[in-house]
Amino acid sequence: MEHAFDGQVALVTGGARGQGRAHALAFAERGADVVLCDRLDGSPHVDYPLATEEDLAETVRMVEATGRRVLALRADTADRGAMEHVVTSAEAEFGRIDIAVANAGVSIPSPVQSMSSGRWDEAIGTNLTGVFNTIATVAPGMIARGYGRIVTVSSMLGRSGGPNMAAYAASKWGVIGLTKSSALDLADHGITVNAVAPGNISTPMIHNHALYSHLRPDLDNPTPEDVAPVFESLHAQPVPWLEPFEVSRVVLFLASRDSAHISGIVVPIDAGTAARVT
Ligand code: NAD
Repeated sequence: MEHAFDGQVALVTGGARGQGRAHALAFAERGADVVLCDRLDGSPHVDYPLATEEDLAETVRMVEATGRRVLALRADTADRGAMEHVVTSAEAEFGRIDIAVANAGVSIPSPVQSMSSGRWDEAIGTNLTGVFNTIATVAPGMIARGYGRIVTVSSMLGRSGGPNMAAYAASKWGVIGLTKSSALDLADHGITVNAVAPGNISTPMIHNHALYSHLRPDLDNPTPEDVAPVFESLHAQPVPWLEPFEVSRVVLFLASRDSAHISGIVVPIDAGTAARVT
């Protein structure tokens, strides 16, 4: 049976868990070989655990179960040299990268007046510089082959502001400027660059004690039921969060051959919340 991504290679940054894992699996189920990278280290500036080696190994197992090949590497997207190594290794192993999903990201809530430089730098380093490093390192090979699909991950906070979210929102607004400008730079080379802007997505980035406590400071140990109404209030439709596969569907379309003449756009997957902003 033919699949939409047969013979293609997809790189997913931050692919050990969450949305990245869902995207990796979705590509593999449709015929692509997959390159995963993840930093696999906590950060003193991030208040919840990032992915572990076990998470990455589990994603590798899930991709291999589809029959596709997978290359999984430890790499911090904020480190350009590390991303160059990922791309060189992927091209040596599979000969090409056709699709890159710049998905790795961190959420770092702090009021702007008390945000440390370390927390600011971490948010910008991973969420914005990491996306730049991903685009800059995959683009030369895509240009040489005359084909590429790059999907970046912004957020509904890339189109609005939020209390405590100055660094995160700045990084995600930045992703949109980076995406649109890159789309123009790469337009002559058969490469499209588009962004997705998710709302609340059910992953460890939102389901963790630190964020729950931010949202319900009145409770010692808030539960998912306690925070669900707060998450729901951030969406237009009455749902607290969406599942990662809902984002994957859009990523798949933007990464497909069918989207050849769609570039520089931002697609919200945010339960209607985009209706509130211009
Ligand atoms: P997640 O925390 O489950 O996954 C993020 C992954 O990125 C983790 O595996 C983590 O280890 C990895 N990572 C973090 N920093 C990295 C770095 N510098 N280098 C390499 N890997 C790194 O969260 P998620 O929800 O799957 O997040 C995926 C993307 O979606 C992020 O860019 C996030 O900002 C964005 N997003 C998430 C939500 C949400 O509600 N979950 C909403 C809007 C946008």
